[in-house]
Amino acid sequence: MKIIKNGTLVTPEGLKNESLGFENGKIVRIGTFEAGEGDEVIDAAGCYVYPGFIDGHTHLDLEVAGTVTADDFETGTTAAVCGGTTCVVDFATQYAGDTVLNALNTWKKKAEGKMHCNVAFHMAICDWNEKTKADLPALREEGVTSFKVYMAYDTALEDAEILEVLEAIKPFGGILGCHCENGGLVTELQKQQIGAGHTGPSAHPLSRPAAVEAEAVNRFCYLGYLADAPVNIVHLSTKLGLEEIREARKRGQTVYAESCPQYMLLDDSLYNLPGFESAKYVCSPPLRKEEDIKALREAVINGEIDTIATDHCSFSYEKQKIAGIDDFRKIPNGAPGIEHRPAVFMHIFGDKLTPQDYCRLMSRGPAEVFGMYPQKGALLEGSDADITIWDPSVRWTISAGNMHQNLDYTPYEGVEVKGRPKYVFVNGELAAKDGEPTNMRAGTYVAR
Ligand SMILES: [Zn+2]
Repeated sequence: MKIIKNGTLVTPEGLKNESLGFENGKIVRIGTFEAGEGDEVIDAAGCYVYPGFIDGHTHLDLEVAGTVTADDFETGTTAAVCGGTTCVVDFATQYAGDTVLNALNTWKKKAEGKMHCNVAFHMAICDWNEKTKADLPALREEGVTSFKVYMAYDTALEDAEILEVLEAIKPFGGILGCHCENGGLVTELQKQQIGAGHTGPSAHPLSRPAAVEAEAVNRFCYLGYLADAPVNIVHLSTKLGLEEIREARKRGQTVYAESCPQYMLLDDSLYNLPGFESAKYVCSPPLRKEEDIKALREAVINGEIDTIATDHCSFSYEKQKIAGIDDFRKIPNGAPGIEHRPAVFMHIFGDKLTPQDYCRLMSRGPAEVFGMYPQKGALLEGSDADITIWDPSVRWTISAGNMHQNLDYTPYEGVEVKGRPKYVFVNGELAAKDGEPTNMRAGTYVAR
């Protein structure tokens, strides 16, 4: 047995200054006890012991915008464990003409042999038809319980189709997330920007203003209302969108809300950098204004946000973002963050949130919303030994030069943070130590 001693355990019953023993990939003992012969002791003095952090929104090895994301499962999950994340829920994506079952197999193959942390899949449904509908129960049997639809991009579904998806997954308790932006309005506003001669990245946020998100959040909430089904708003970025969620909750609806650190730290002034530099921050939804950042931070503190994810979707600045040098619409949309989410999120909130809050937003919340609790997201006897031992005293500076994400920049360059995982265990194996990987590839596919 491996035994973590001298740390503060963040458990569902509260903080505990107790020991935690694990073997064969499971937590087997929590309490006050001493190590026996043959036990290996891990000293967690001065550290918080969290159930491993879960990133419920990543895009690894995704073909999109005529290219493929810079991080695949090898580099992406390596970066994840180095930052303290022990499980990602990535988006298997059904392209037009493909079946959802085949899409799941495609993504499982992409991840095979490369999982440094655990990997589960949502299914992004992009081609809704009778076959897709008929395959959903089989997909459920394969361990997929969460789904996503888009209201923008060429992967968008019609409102009526989204309603049908909600109705189809309801019998087995599936949860649907939605990329809430009105795609038709985005296309029109992009045209207006180009028509006015605005071809650079500064036009990106102008073509996707807050109202474009809020309208889509409102519509998706009402689709959930019609279907009498819960909905999950992913990567919420605006105050207006937040207000729509509040209205839906007032109607008695179950609405889960996800947001990401970039929307609570970085603002849209980053779209006015010299040259093409701002392309680094072209993600959708875009970075927002000070009032949005303030509203989202308050929502986190008030408990109105359920999960904090990254929407990690990485493209090299020099090699890939550059495709949009003459037309901002051709800049691949996305930003990296899979490695830095825990540190950046704690940097933003510091003592305004407790270790219990950090656990709820980055571990327990995603485990609950996506059907993995208490197998994951909890330090309990019988739970998986996915454990992040967090040393809150380590000061370090985020930089592309010291990260494991496979690209040439990070939006958090130069941010001085406090706290880093000292040890990260995945299925009971040491996956990272002091921010460096052990290359154990201890992750597995998580069927939910
Ligand atoms: Zn996404």
